[in-house]
Amino acid sequence: MTEAAFIYDIILSKHVLREDHPLRPFRLQYAYELLDAYGAFDGSTSKIVSPQPADEDILLTFHTKDYIEVVKSLSRGEKVSNQSTYNFSIYGDNPPYEGMYEASILPVGASLIAAKVVADGEFDVAFNISGGLHHAASNYASGFCVFNDLVIAIKSLLGRGMRVAYIDIDAHHGDGVQNAFYDSDKVLTISIHESGSFLFPGTGEVTEIGTGDGKGYAVNLPLYPHTEDDTYLWAFREIVPPLVTSFKPDIVVSQLGCDTHYLDPLTHLMLTTWGYTEVVKEVKRLAPRWVALGGGGYDMGTVARCWTLAYGVMIGKDWEDEIPEAYQQKYGIKKLRDKDVPQLADRTKDQVRSSAQEMVEELRRLVFPKHGL
Ligand SMILES: [Zn+2]
Repeated sequence: MTEAAFIYDIILSKHVLREDHPLRPFRLQYAYELLDAYGAFDGSTSKIVSPQPADEDILLTFHTKDYIEVVKSLSRGEKVSNQSTYNFSIYGDNPPYEGMYEASILPVGASLIAAKVVADGEFDVAFNISGGLHHAASNYASGFCVFNDLVIAIKSLLGRGMRVAYIDIDAHHGDGVQNAFYDSDKVLTISIHESGSFLFPGTGEVTEIGTGDGKGYAVNLPLYPHTEDDTYLWAFREIVPPLVTSFKPDIVVSQLGCDTHYLDPLTHLMLTTWGYTEVVKEVKRLAPRWVALGGGGYDMGTVARCWTLAYGVMIGKDWEDEIPEAYQQKYGIKKLRDKDVPQLADRTKDQVRSSAQEMVEELRRLVFPKHGL
């Protein structure tokens, strides 16, 4: 039986980046309460684990000292004249706010404890929904991400001599993680995302395959806007299982952003809760041990539903579709799974499929031979 840890504390959901900012940490509480309503933490095989804030020494395994100091200063409400050098601006993606440092080190600590309990063999899987901040760079903030919990957690696993496969299913390219390990063959990074021609951060082309020893160990599968369940799943299955299987990781770290969903206001992929859940099942099949982290997701109800379904996959529970009464009354969501799924024109379906086929062919040509495939 799978033993799972859910890394959570309500403090993770308390900060506000800016009143009108699309990333609303309260979504974490929304998801936690839905899982709790289903009784996800009642059994003996699923346990809530509280995170501790990451200390500065751990941040320094990836981030630069001067960047950390800038985050601290802004967090104290001090003016930093060159804040734009670090990609902070009041009205941009990464607004400075009071308490930003404290709010940003807790998700890192949460991902570190997730990695630790799984690597120690205490749990088969750990899910930190506050993690997955895949855009943060070593010396600047990016895409709502201040510190890169994924890179720091993966480095902690590498420090234990583990081979790590990283699977990123967020709608946006996992650029920060890819770049951190671009010249390494110890980490296989795979990102499947909406094409950078249409979406932030603009990178993640199929031709970005790593450099030096890392050549063939960075994998990008960009998809067209409107890609739906069938094409997404087909492309995922063509690329991800063969590569991960041949890489033989000791552990899989996954970024489970759910902004691929058709209701997400920031992106243009068209997955449903069914498609998302099937992808999470695929990741589970590939993971000898599994560190599962959150990521994007900007429609509150969709985030709660998707991560509840994902945790259900982790602990082997197929939740009832009818959402428990108390949660329905509090938040007004009645069903767990999508009912009114988007209907795409045949022509659109054909277009996204043929684009995905092209990308899959490219990867077979560019990357598969490096893995003896
Ligand atoms: Zn995203």
